[in-house]
Amino acid sequence: MQNEELLKELRCQVAECHLCDLHETRNKVVFGAGSTNPIILFVGEAPGRTEDEKGIPFVGQAGALFAKILGAAEISSEHIFVTNILKCRPPRNRTPNPEEVARCLPYLMGQIALLNPSFVVTLGRAATCALLETNQSMGSLRGKWCSHKGILVLPTYHPAALLRNEGLKSPTWDDFQMIRDTYRKCLENSSVKGD
Ligand code: SF4
Repeated sequence: MQNEELLKELRCQVAECHLCDLHETRNKVVFGAGSTNPIILFVGEAPGRTEDEKGIPFVGQAGALFAKILGAAEISSEHIFVTNILKCRPPRNRTPNPEEVARCLPYLMGQIALLNPSFVVTLGRAATCALLETNQSMGSLRGKWCSHKGILVLPTYHPAALLRNEGLKSPTWDDFQMIRDTYRKCLENSSVKGD
């Protein structure tokens, strides 16, 4: 079976998931959106209010800022897939708890295996710590490439954090310049994922 078919199957499986309590309060499951052959897989924390209403990731205020950053870095939406560690919204946007992360993480690992991105960018501490299985601070993790279980990962701040703290904009832009440079190299070296 082709990866796209398997991805559709995974999407259906997630849509019906009851593995943690968040299925009781969600409106819509947010599987993720984007290219099925992406260069970059962006991973955020969890759906917010607007995402939960629409079933689409990064469509609220933070999503608008994220789109602006991607535009400034000249990263095409055709070459990315965007998702979250949790596929359902935690009530009042609280931080995901360890049990929710443990239950939902296999879906992300399935997405990574099927989408096979050139690299992953984690957005924010919750996504970074869940994927890299660490408790370090974002200050020490951001802007440093690492390889985890064979996946190339670059952590940076979540756009929502930039809305709360203007001071994070400059280091985030530094990180996005690294992301842009690696994205361009991947684009040049790949006849499959290029335009
Ligand atoms: S957050 Fe993940 S594990 Fe929990 S119900 Fe939703 S899809 Fe299932």
